[in-house]
Amino acid sequence: MSDTLSYDTLVAERHQYLQPLIAAEDHIIGYIYPHTPLELFFAHQLIPTLLWAEPKIPGAYEASLQTFCCAYSRNLFSQRAKNQLTNLTAIVFPGGTCDSLQNLGDVWQARFPEDTLLRLTYPVAQDEAALTYLTEELQNLSNYIEVTLGHKFSVEKYNEAVALIAEFRAATQFITAARLIKPECLSYTKYTKLIRQFLTVPGPQALQLIEQTAIEVQSELRQEQLIPSVEALRYGLLQNTFDDLTIPLSKQGPRIMVIGGMIDPEGIAVLFENAKTSADIESVEIVMDLLSFTYRTVFTSSPSLQGNPFQELAQSILSAPAEPTQEGLPNRLQFLRHVFDQFKIDGLIICEQSFCDPDQFEVPDMLKLAEKKKIFTVRLPLDPEFSDQARIEGRLQSFLETLTARR
Ligand code: SF4
Repeated sequence: MSDTLSYDTLVAERHQYLQPLIAAEDHIIGYIYPHTPLELFFAHQLIPTLLWAEPKIPGAYEASLQTFCCAYSRNLFSQRAKNQLTNLTAIVFPGGTCDSLQNLGDVWQARFPEDTLLRLTYPVAQDEAALTYLTEELQNLSNYIEVTLGHKFSVEKYNEAVALIAEFRAATQFITAARLIKPECLSYTKYTKLIRQFLTVPGPQALQLIEQTAIEVQSELRQEQLIPSVEALRYGLLQNTFDDLTIPLSKQGPRIMVIGGMIDPEGIAVLFENAKTSADIESVEIVMDLLSFTYRTVFTSSPSLQGNPFQELAQSILSAPAEPTQEGLPNRLQFLRHVFDQFKIDGLIICEQSFCDPDQFEVPDMLKLAEKKKIFTVRLPLDPEFSDQARIEGRLQSFLETLTARR
C-alpha cells in the first residue's frame, strides 16, 4: 500500500511557492472568491494569490462572526486573528456573493482597521444591467487602488496579464477536455496541483508547467487521433454547446464526477486517492469536477484586448459557468443533465462545505437529477481543513467499492 497523502503537505507546498515573492517584498494581494479579476490586480502591479484554509487553525467558534458564517470564512478569520496569515499588501473581499463573505469583510474591517481591504460587489444576474453595473464597480475599484495604494493602472501590465491568464485557461481547458475523453492521460491529483500552483503564484513559471503537461497529454492523444475530438469538446464546453457532440470516451473503469462550490480541489484529490488505495481499485477516476476553483475558473472566457478593459473584465467575470452564487439554477441543472448524459457519469460525489448556503440550496435538485439518471451518489460534508480525513475517506471507500460492485 502506498503512503497516505495528506492535505497538510499540500498546504506546506503553497507556503513554499509564495516564499520567493515574500522574500522579494513583492506586493501580494490575497483573494477569496474564485471570480476575482486577476488581470486588474496585475495591471496595478499587485500579485494576486488565492487564500486557503489552514489545517492547523481550525475555524471553530469565532465570536466576532455571525453564526451563519461558513467554516471557510471562519478559518480565514482565525488565521488573521492568530497572526498566521501571509503578509499581504491588501485583501479583496467580494460583496453580493454570499452572506458569509459579506459578514467576513465587514467584521474584518472593524476588527483589523490597519489592514487594507478592497471590495468588489458582484451582481447576481448576468444580463446587460449586470454588465453595466460590474463595469462601473471595476472602474471604481481600480481608482480606489490608485488612491489607496498609489499603484497606477498600467496598460502594458494589463495586456501582459490578459495574455498570461488566457494562456493558463487555454492549456487547462485542453487538459480538462482531454481528461474527460481519456482520464488516464493525467491523474486528478496532478491536474488539481497544476491549477492550484498557478492560482497561488500566477506567473510564467507555473504556466510553463501547465503548458508542458498539455504538450505531453497532446502527444499521447495524438497517437490515438483524439486531438480533433478534444478540441471540439473544449470549444463545446466553452460555448455550452457540447450536448450534441459525438465524444469517443475511453472505456476504462467507473467514471466519477465531483460537484460543489468553494471546496479545495487538491484536498478532494487527496481524499479520493487515499480511498482508492484503501479500496484497492485502480481503474476508477474522477473524470470531471464542477468546483469553483477548477472547472468554473478555467472555463470562464478571457477578456478581449479590444475595447474598454473594465467592460471586457466584467464580461469575462459574468461568463463564469454554473456558479451557485449567481442566479440561474434551471440553467445549471440543464448543464448538469447534459454532462451526465454526454460523459457517461457513473458516480457523483457531492461536496458540501460546512454551513455554505449556496452549496446546500442546490443539493436536493442535483440529487434528484442524479437519481433520475441512475447515477450512484455520495454526499460529503466537509470542513475546509479536511480535519475529518479518516472518516470521509472511509465513506468514499465504501462508495467506490459499492459502485464498482454494481457495474
Ligand atoms: S464556502 Fe459558501 S458560504 Fe463560504 S464563502 Fe464560499 S460560497 Fe460563501
